[in-house]
Amino acid sequence: MTNRIDIFKRKEDCCGCSACYAICPKGAITMLADEEGFEYPIIDTNLCIGCRKCINVCPIRSICK
Ligand code: SF4
Ligand code: SF4
Repeated sequence: MTNRIDIFKRKEDCCGCSACYAICPKGAITMLADEEGFEYPIIDTNLCIGCRKCINVCPIRSICK
């Protein structure tokens, strides 16, 4: 089973810009729409190598504080 974690702690901490999705070198991030149709990133921990590029690119920098 795919092990997935949220890339941000609270929805308010993510504007859905998808910069993290775009920069991930492993394709570990998926943008998934919530019940209201807003897309949020999810990390597939089986693919993630912990490079933290997604954290560094995030304009809100809410990830893994
Ligand atoms: S830490 Fe690196 S490999 Fe993992 S999701 Fe972020 S950008 Fe992708
Ligand atoms: S870079 Fe940050 S604000 Fe943009 S989608 Fe990813 S977690 Fe959300």
